Amino acid sequence: MKVGLYMCGGERPVSQFSLGLGYLASNCAVEDVIIEMASRSSLPGYDMIGLSANAWGMKEAYDIMKTSNVPVILGGQATLWEGCRDLGFAHVVIGEGEEALNKILRKEVSATVIEEKPMRDIDNLAFPMRGNCGKTVPVLTSRGCPYQCNFCSSKTYWHGVRFHSAEYFMKEVEYIASQYPAATELYILDDLFIAKPSRFSEIHGLWMKGGWSKRFTLESFVRSNMFTEDIGKAMKEMGFRNIRFGAESGSNRMLKLLNKQTTVEDHQRTIDIACKLKLPVSASFMHGLPGEAEEDRQATKDFIARNRGRLQVRGDYEFKAFPGTLYYSGEDLLKTDMRVR
Ligand code: SF4
Repeated sequence: MKVGLYMCGGERPVSQFSLGLGYLASNCAVEDVIIEMASRSSLPGYDMIGLSANAWGMKEAYDIMKTSNVPVILGGQATLWEGCRDLGFAHVVIGEGEEALNKILRKEVSATVIEEKPMRDIDNLAFPMRGNCGKTVPVLTSRGCPYQCNFCSSKTYWHGVRFHSAEYFMKEVEYIASQYPAATELYILDDLFIAKPSRFSEIHGLWMKGGWSKRFTLESFVRSNMFTEDIGKAMKEMGFRNIRFGAESGSNRMLKLLNKQTTVEDHQRTIDIACKLKLPVSASFMHGLPGEAEEDRQATKDFIARNRGRLQVRGDYEFKAFPGTLYYSGEDLLKTDMRVR
């Protein structure tokens, strides 16, 4: 049997690469199954199709399912939308998919909706299939986030955070170095790479001991309330060429409403530390937030203006109420434009 895996929602930059599908492929342990990353046009050649979709990929997932004459399985954050469950997908896999896909392929499950308990030790996973990579290779060193921002579905999807050990990560770095000799950068896709400072410190030690800063630069997300000068120094030493954080707003009133658990002062401190260390720093913001008043919007503009030349703004996204968040109020993902601009 040939299974094709495809990420819905259009072409994406490496920062949004679906390593989730790569883990499904490399952790498939069913005999006589060939599992591959597919393009949209190659999907008709498979005996079964596995789709991953986020909220804005739901329409494409539905189109594929409607025009396919083989079973189509849906996974990814779009499954937080209950409306996807009775549309005609052979299976809807909620949450982690590795074990669920193995059970489906072994015909051990017949229910449409399958929800496995979150895997306890993610170090048991094989490294993901990545296909062709250029100079930048995506890496996932944890699943989920310990925070609970009201606009974010991470907590609903992952039920908290689990980490790969520092040793697992370093073995994966060695593997990437051998498999992708032309690669020069690791793009860490974690919600929050520094979420566990003790693990970060261990990774820093192993990275420096192995001389990896001569081989790879890195990029990842931090969080302004967690960022310290010591973390910044360690990141700089490791070869981080940029740090990013989700600032969302320059108004403390909005940050509180969003349950961001960070403040404008934390944002400023992060930028100041990064500038002091000559570590390029970028942040993303959101507009059109529920409860956002003109003065909040102005506070964000003022914050950006105050940091001109010191902070790169990487995105000022229009707010969308995604399923699995506090703000979701029943939008139909087949009828609503959920694309973030
Ligand atoms: S927005 Fe970022 S920090 Fe907040 S819960 Fe989501 S992943 Fe975590």
